[in-house]
Amino acid sequence: MVQSAKARPSIWCPGCGDFGVLAAVKKAAQNLKIPNHELVLVGGIGCSGSIHNFVEVNGLHALHGRLLAQAIGVKLANPSLTVVAAGGDGDGYAIGMGHFMHAFKKNASILYLVMNNETYGLTKGQPSPTSQLGFEGNVEPPFHSVLTALSIPAPNFIARTFSGDPKTMTAVLEEGLRFNREGRGFAFIEDLSPCVTYNDTYKQWREQVVDVAKLPGYDPTDRKAMFRLCYETIEAGKIPIGVMHRPKAPAADGLELKLLPDHVSPAATDIGLGANRSAYEKLIGGLA
Ligand code: SF4
Repeated sequence: MVQSAKARPSIWCPGCGDFGVLAAVKKAAQNLKIPNHELVLVGGIGCSGSIHNFVEVNGLHALHGRLLAQAIGVKLANPSLTVVAAGGDGDGYAIGMGHFMHAFKKNASILYLVMNNETYGLTKGQPSPTSQLGFEGNVEPPFHSVLTALSIPAPNFIARTFSGDPKTMTAVLEEGLRFNREGRGFAFIEDLSPCVTYNDTYKQWREQVVDVAKLPGYDPTDRKAMFRLCYETIEAGKIPIGVMHRPKAPAADGLELKLLPDHVSPAATDIGLGANRSAYEKLIGGLA
């Protein structure tokens, strides 16, 4: 029988925005009928990175900033898995920035879900790359992930959601996961997920968020137009949410399909017991 790891009780503070993400991930996977053992959650470092412990799926806790490299590794080791890399803004947009930029052009069919709370919650509220000017201890303007994502020409799915709107979040997550499961490439979803303990932005964000689909000129197949629309929305003091990019033509562009057209990963054959039994026995024998 195929099994997945048992879920543990959450350790998050009551009211943390990450609960909305957890609920939406479960609901989206259920709606798409993804079997538990075929869904892998790779958690980053930080409060949000423990999400894989709270769902009955298989998961691993990645090294700090190396979340995407490890999640892409899982996908290439077994392309039939649905892989979600889930972490925070501190992990992904600071030490993980190099991997973040390259993930768009590598275009492996995984979902990168960033829970952005504009602070390092786990270590008690220091400024992160997305902290606003005026946040205690911060003297830098915030990093804008969606603008960066839109500036890299690649056939990705790009969206932003808000934990205060779980219904939309579930629908967007479903679209991102479907995109992955069709082998169409990298899906990036940033969720605005308030840290109620060190940066409670629920009220402020509820007033600031703007659904881009309701703005004049909305066309998620046109990167340049969407960059301008999101830029102007930010300049006006608002936060754009919704689907910012989906490629016009539904092409199977995923990295795993280019590298492994027959869906057989070298990892599966290289470490398989059958072909390597004598080598393993020799190795184990040497340890005795
Ligand atoms: Fe959530 Fe903040 Fe508590 Fe961490 S410290 S669990 S981010 S509310």
